[in-house]
Amino acid sequence: MSKGLIFKPVLEEEQVLATRLLGTAVEQSRLANAYLLVGDNREAKLDLAKQVAAYLNCTSTERDTRGSCLRSVSEASGSCQNCRWISEGKHPQAWLELMPREGASTKIPVEQARLLSEEFTKTSGYRRVAVIYEASQDVFHRPSANALLKTIEEPRGNGVFFLFARSEDNVLRTIVSRCQVVPVIMPGKRLVGPLNRLLDRSAYSSALANLFSELKEEEADLVAGLKELSNLPFFEWSRNLARGGAKKASAHPTTGVHALELVESSLDIVGQGDNVELVVDTVYLTELEIIGTMAIDSPILTDYLNELLRLCEETKWRISKYVGKKAVFESFAFQWIELRQSLSSPVSG
Ligand SMILES: [Zn+2]
Repeated sequence: MSKGLIFKPVLEEEQVLATRLLGTAVEQSRLANAYLLVGDNREAKLDLAKQVAAYLNCTSTERDTRGSCLRSVSEASGSCQNCRWISEGKHPQAWLELMPREGASTKIPVEQARLLSEEFTKTSGYRRVAVIYEASQDVFHRPSANALLKTIEEPRGNGVFFLFARSEDNVLRTIVSRCQVVPVIMPGKRLVGPLNRLLDRSAYSSALANLFSELKEEEADLVAGLKELSNLPFFEWSRNLARGGAKKASAHPTTGVHALELVESSLDIVGQGDNVELVVDTVYLTELEIIGTMAIDSPILTDYLNELLRLCEETKWRISKYVGKKAVFESFAFQWIELRQSLSSPVSG
């Protein structure tokens, strides 16, 4: 659980997921080498990078109780020198920047990328934060990216890279694969779906239990049946993902046979009455229970759970509208397989 000393409260409120991911990583001293901050909110991306840099380098005696000067001191004059320089974006060692030179070319010059790479070979008493303001491949093009690949993979001396882009789709694959992708949203936008639940680790492990506890005592058989669903081969993929990561999961893909078995078993338990919707909730929460803890560190998995939730809601709506509940549920199971397939390659681990 984050102690909340790294980011300003206003940023935490706006960027719930990003501050949570980065804050936990900083506090547990397990920052990744590189973060790709995606989205249109450039100001928030810069705030995130600066507040991390300040926390890592602040020399104030109150850092451990109130956070860095950037977070806790309102007047710049009251800040330690590191925080002051970082807030101005001109700390000679702790704040390194890479941006296209103004004028002729919009590309980041290879020479600048080399210089930054060389900077990382020098030892430093500071925790270096390097910011690449535009990581899309039009700007951070292949020659410059190549000059920095090794450094991004292995920044010496406790360095961390922040790369900014509107979308990871515009960034070279070789770069994306070395970064943890973090979505940065626009002010006032909310992350929808299961994210709110994901933000409270205890909640998704108990969500399924809560669902079952809502059912009445005379429905004990129904509850027992629903609980059994998690043992189906359909959920082997999820268990493999939780145990061994994406490679293991994609080595044992969910098949159509698994999907049909899920449909048959579910309808055996609830018939084709109103409880089909209950099955949809159950299987979703089962998936959340198995892989939810991984999703907090993986925006790709978070997206997957979001998509799955959308699919579930749509399915419940269709079930309530149409007579052919079995056909609707079958189509749901097959669309779910497609969702799993679409994410099996890019998930890290
Ligand atoms: Zn400070």
